[in-house]
Amino acid sequence: MIVQFGSARIELVLGDITTQQLDIIVNAANSQLAGGGGVDGAIHDAAGPEIMKELRQRYPDGCPTGSAVVTSGGKLTSQYIFHAVGPIWQGGSKKESQLLESAYQTCLSLAEKHQCKTLAFPSISTGVYRYPVDLAAEIALRTVAMKLESSDELELVRFVLFDQGTFGGYARVLETMLV
Ligand code: ADP
Repeated sequence: MIVQFGSARIELVLGDITTQQLDIIVNAANSQLAGGGGVDGAIHDAAGPEIMKELRQRYPDGCPTGSAVVTSGGKLTSQYIFHAVGPIWQGGSKKESQLLESAYQTCLSLAEKHQCKTLAFPSISTGVYRYPVDLAAEIALRTVAMKLESSDELELVRFVLFDQGTFGGYARVLETMLV
């Protein structure tokens, strides 16, 4: 599914983020930047051990929830990996929505700062962190769409969704944004 916003577009695809050939791949990391399962494990496996070394050297204190840090792409074809830390879902009253929005915002600002045109996001926080997909998709898509309306730099933001349920959730939200 492809939707144009300003001079840029949002794409939704079902697939594995590690195979995407875009300028930036976003990782859903934890605040210790310690690696783990899910998309974090898949990205570290594909990009190689240099990435963990870089994280330890450059960000020994980790990364606060709602923010993101930058490494090289390692063995991936992408120029950069952004390691974004989304919130753990705790029922919705612990500022989860602001923190999730802030994680996306930080990545979009960093993409502009690094003069990149294309980036791929996974569905941050909706795996082990249990953020409900429909609520997370609303925040992710609205935050990105708003940024694209005013960005001269960004051309493509692709959400790479790993399973049919998540893809369906994002597609439903994106459709409501068209009317
Ligand atoms: P979080 O801890 O932020 O919830 P997870 O990695 O547990 O992060 O899950 C986030 C989303 O990433 C989930 O929808 C999960 O299915 C998905 N995911 C797992 N592996 C990949 C991958 N290789 N490419 C894209 N998405 C993935």
